[in-house]
Amino acid sequence: MKTLNDFNFDNKKALIRVDFNVPLNENFEVTDATRIEAAKPTIIKVLEDGGSCILMSHLGRPKNREEEFSLKHIVNKASEVLGVNLKFVADSIGPLVEEAVANLQSGEILLLENLRYYPEEKAGDNAFAASLSKLGDIYINDAFGTAHRAHASTAVIAEYFPENKCFGTLLVSEIENLNKVLTQSEKPVTAIIGGAKVSSKITIIENILDKIDHLIIGGGMAFTFIKAQGGKIGNSLVEDDKQELALSILEKAKQKNVQVHLPVDALIADQFSNDANTEVCSISEIPDGWMGLDTGSETNTNFAQVILNSKTILWNGPVGVFEMESFAAGTISLGNAIAKATKEGAFSLVGGGDSVAAVKKFNLTDKVSYVSTGGGAMLETLEGKTLPGILAMEN
Ligand code: AMP
Repeated sequence: MKTLNDFNFDNKKALIRVDFNVPLNENFEVTDATRIEAAKPTIIKVLEDGGSCILMSHLGRPKNREEEFSLKHIVNKASEVLGVNLKFVADSIGPLVEEAVANLQSGEILLLENLRYYPEEKAGDNAFAASLSKLGDIYINDAFGTAHRAHASTAVIAEYFPENKCFGTLLVSEIENLNKVLTQSEKPVTAIIGGAKVSSKITIIENILDKIDHLIIGGGMAFTFIKAQGGKIGNSLVEDDKQELALSILEKAKQKNVQVHLPVDALIADQFSNDANTEVCSISEIPDGWMGLDTGSETNTNFAQVILNSKTILWNGPVGVFEMESFAAGTISLGNAIAKATKEGAFSLVGGGDSVAAVKKFNLTDKVSYVSTGGGAMLETLEGKTLPGILAMEN
């Protein structure tokens, strides 16, 4: 696996796939620049070597060339974050781009227009990848967030750089940190899997059972397990057709000596609303008309105890509807326990859209060891898949 250190970028044009798919508000201002910040070390290394950067990214899911998805909206913020005024070209391939690239000087950064304005990007089109490849001397993939896609700029393009391609700093650190959980973990290892649905997390759970000692299951998905075990869950979220699967996971965990920790109590509500009436009750005695929207305090204590005894912690998915203040306490308690365990020497990795949002919302980003930037890419890695964007670089 080649990295930036294998190259000197002096006088070279680095063609970098970054993930600048950042959220924008209604005025098209960047509301969270984390992904831009994450790409900074790679970009700075190229510039400090004496090279120039051509940045390729997608933004959102345009159907045509809707202006709301133009990467021009992020130029100011990216310039501020990177400390260099970005040049922008309103296309991704073609004469306009080739001219801008020809004029690019060492120390400069050129941002191309949204790659997904071309359907060829997502289709993994060879001709589109070939046109992009002509723009740079060295291809760098630093877009972990899209590494699970076999798109033109994330995978196909790599074959046009048989020698001159490498991973960027972010991608290397994502791989290294995931390996700290998956292959080089210090025991006891605890995985916390929460969120809405069993169906979206099932492959992850099955793949990590061999690697963990404790499995904490929380959030909406816990109710399918509770119901499968004969509990009364009222109107809580459930996937009835996944009950068998839930029981088989519990059985597999037992065979592999993994201790499963399910909630024992729940904060229940009479409607899915922040202003609902609430009560705490046993997880398996939820009355009809009520739904469990957060873990109860006994559960929070149990989960914290497991976490504080762990040396490696993986967290994906909230244990309650943390977006509503009334149902955030369980997720906050869990996050605080992970922060405390981390302070005491554990390695903790948080990943997957909603848990990252929770970590940010509750100011825990600096208190965990690593926050993955790649939602789907991280989940697929946890599922045991080799990501196309990573595979393409190794061939
Ligand atoms: P996921 O994307 O599968 O990780 O699911 C995250 C979502 O699960 C968040 O938006 C939470 O609000 C939601 N969630 C967590 N706990 C519950 C629950 N008990 N009932 C319904 N939704 C929940």
